[in-house]
Amino acid sequence: METVALHDREDQIHITGETPLKIACNKESLAGAVSQRACVFCGSRVVLYPIADALHLVHGPIGCAVYTWDIRGALSSGPELHRLSFSTDLQEMDVIFGGEKKLQAALTELIDRHAPKAAFVYSTCIVGIIGDDLEAVCRHVEEAKGIPVIPVKSEGFKGNKRAGYKAACDAMARLIGTGNTNGISRFSLNILGDFNLAGEIWMIRDYYESMGVEVVANITGDGRVDDICRAHGAALNVVQCSGSTMLLADMMEEQYGIPSLRVSYFGIEDMSEALYDIARFFQQRYPEDSEADAIMERTRALVQKEVRTLVPQLEKYRRDLAGKKAAIYVGGSFKAFSLVKAFRLVDMQVVLVGSQTGTEEDYQELEAITDPGTVIVDDSNPLELTSFLKEKGVDVFVGGVKERPIAYKLGIGFCDHNHERKEALAGFEGMLNFAREVHSSVMSPVWRFVPRKDSNLKEEAV
Ligand code: SF4
Repeated sequence: METVALHDREDQIHITGETPLKIACNKESLAGAVSQRACVFCGSRVVLYPIADALHLVHGPIGCAVYTWDIRGALSSGPELHRLSFSTDLQEMDVIFGGEKKLQAALTELIDRHAPKAAFVYSTCIVGIIGDDLEAVCRHVEEAKGIPVIPVKSEGFKGNKRAGYKAACDAMARLIGTGNTNGISRFSLNILGDFNLAGEIWMIRDYYESMGVEVVANITGDGRVDDICRAHGAALNVVQCSGSTMLLADMMEEQYGIPSLRVSYFGIEDMSEALYDIARFFQQRYPEDSEADAIMERTRALVQKEVRTLVPQLEKYRRDLAGKKAAIYVGGSFKAFSLVKAFRLVDMQVVLVGSQTGTEEDYQELEAITDPGTVIVDDSNPLELTSFLKEKGVDVFVGGVKERPIAYKLGIGFCDHNHERKEALAGFEGMLNFAREVHSSVMSPVWRFVPRKDSNLKEEAV
C-alpha cells in the first residue's frame, strides 16, 4: 500500500483478499489524525432531531447548537418545531456560577411559547465539566409543565459518535412504554433508524401500508412523541441504521419482548429483501393465519411491480458507468453494504469503502461482499482518504459534507449520501435517483475542464 497512513492507524485499514480480516475499530480516534467523526453531542442530536413535535434545547455555548443546526434534511409531514435550534448560550459567568437557572428559565419560556409534546435537553462538553444537574432541572420543569422533559447525556468529550447514539437511545427509552397501545394491529412494526431525508420514510411507509402492515412509530424520521410513547405495542422493530438505533431495539426486546430485524432500504436487492424478511416474520409468527400469507402475496406483487419498472430504466445508466470506479465513506456501515451492491447493479467497481462507526462484524460483512484489492478503512481522515482516492483512480466518491471538498479538490465526482441531501435515495425509486445522480456526476462534461490529480500526484486533464 503506497498510501499515507499514520503508523498507529495501520491496524484500522484492511485490503480485501490480502490477509484474513483483522481490523481494529470502535475505538477512540487517534490524536492528530483529524478524524471525520462528529462529537458525542452531535451523534445524539442527529438521531433525536427529526422528532418534529419536540423541543430540542442545547445546553451549552452557542457554537454547539450552530454546529448541529439543520444538518439533516429530515422532513416532517406536520409540525416543524425540530427545524428551530435553541441554545442556552452559556457565557463565562454561567460557567463560573453554573447554568441551571438559565436552563430552567429557557425551558420554561420555550415550552410556554411553543407548546411542544416533549423536550430534549442536550448536555455539551462544558456542562459536563461544570456539573450542572440536568436531571434535577428537567424533573422540576416536567412537574411544572406536565410534559416529558428529558436530559440527553451527550457531553461531547465522553467518547465518540457512537456514545451519542447511546445517549439518544437512552433518552427515547424514557418515552417508550408510557403511551396507550390499544388498537394496535398484530401485524405492526416500528421503523427505526430512518431519518426521513428527502421524504424517504414516506416511501417506506407506503410499501408497508400496501403490504397490509401497520406502522406504529417512526423512530425518528418524521417522528411524533405520542407515537414513540406507544411504540412498545408494535409486533416488530425494523432497524435500518443499526449503529444508531440497534441499542434501542435491544432494550425494547429485553423490556417488552419485541424482536427486531436489521434491514437496509438502499438498492434493489436490500430493499426487496427487507420487505420479504418482514413478510416472512409474520408468516413464522402466525403460521395458521391467512392474513400473514396475504401479506406475503402482496409483498411479492409489490416487489415484482417495482423491479419490473426499475430495471429497464437502470440500463441506460449502466451502459455508461460500467467499469468506472467508486469510493464510499459513510457514517454507519449498513449504508456501505447497500452501496456496494447498488454500484454492482450499474457495473461499477467499489475500490474503497469505509465508515466512521463500523464494528468488526460490519467489516467482516464488507470484506465478504467486496472484490479482492478493495480498501476497507475504519475512522479515516482527510489525508488517508485523499491518498486512497488518488491511488485507486476513483471516478466518484460517495460521502457526506466533510468528504465533499476532498473529492472536489481532487477533481473527482461526488455523490452526497448523508444528512444534508435533498434527493431520496432509499426504496426502489431511490435506486433510480442514485443511478441518475452518479451518472450525471461521473459523466459530467465539467471533467474535461477540471484537472484531475492522478495516482502519482500529478495533475492531468481527463
Ligand atoms: S465537542 Fe463539545 S464543545 Fe464541541 S460541539 Fe461537541 S459538545 Fe460542543
